[in-house]
Amino acid sequence: MRTIGLLGGMSWDSSATYYRIINEEVRDRLGGHHCAQVVMVSLDFGVVRELQVRGAWDEAAALLVDGAVRLEAAGADVVVLCTNLMHKLAPAIEAATRVPLLHIADAVGARAQELGVDQIGVLGARQVMEEPFYRDRLRERWGIDVIVPSDEDRAVVNRVIFDELTTGRIEPASKRAYLEIVDRLADRGVGAVALACTEIGLLIGATDTDLPLIDSAQVHALAAVDAALSPGDATWDRQPALRSGV
Ligand code: GLU
Repeated sequence: MRTIGLLGGMSWDSSATYYRIINEEVRDRLGGHHCAQVVMVSLDFGVVRELQVRGAWDEAAALLVDGAVRLEAAGADVVVLCTNLMHKLAPAIEAATRVPLLHIADAVGARAQELGVDQIGVLGARQVMEEPFYRDRLRERWGIDVIVPSDEDRAVVNRVIFDELTTGRIEPASKRAYLEIVDRLADRGVGAVALACTEIGLLIGATDTDLPLIDSAQVHALAAVDAALSPGDATWDRQPALRSGV
C-alpha cells in the first residue's frame, strides 16, 4: 500500500472528513485491522486565510510547497491537497515535488463522467467559481462544462464558506440558502452539482436534493485510496487512478 500525504488544515474540519473516509474505505476494501498509511501536514488556516484575503498568492504558494515537500520527506507517495481553492497553486506544488499531486478537479471530473453528465453546477470559493483554473481543467480533461450561480448567489456561497463553514459553523438558514441555489442551478439544466469546497458536504448532502451532488472531499478522498491501492509501482505516474479518463 502506498502512503497518502494529506496537505490539510484548510479547514481542519474537512481534513477530518478526508481522514475518516480514507480509513473507512481502506477498511472496507482490505478488511480486518487494515487502515490507510497516512502522513499529514496540517496548516494553520488563520495564516492561510490572511494570505488569501491579502491576495498574497506567492506567499501562500511558498507555504503550500513547504508543506508538500515535508510530506514527501515523510514518505508520502502521493500528495492530496484537501481544498479546492488552493489548487489554484497546484502548478507550484507540482514543480517542487517528485511525487504526484492528485488533483481534486480530476476526481470531480471522473465522478461527473461516471454520472454521465456533461454539464455541472459548481459551488465553491469565489475563485473556484470565477477563475479559469478549475473550470478549464474540467473542460479540457473531462469534457465537462461548468455552470456557476448568479452574482448574488455566488456571493452567498462564498460568504457562507468563509464566515461559517471554515470556522466550524453549520447554520440551518445557510443550508436552506444553498439548497435554493442548487434548485436554481437545476432549473438551468445541470446534471449534477459539484460541492467544490471541501466543507460544503458538512452543510448539504445527497438526501437534501434530488439532483446528484459530487462532494469534492469525498471523491478526492476515494481517489486517494484508489491511488494508494492501485497495483504496480514502476509505471506509476501522475494520477494513475484517474488516467483512463484523461
Ligand atoms: N476548503 C475550501 C475549498 O475546498 C476553502 C478553504 C480554502 O480556502 O482552502 O476550497
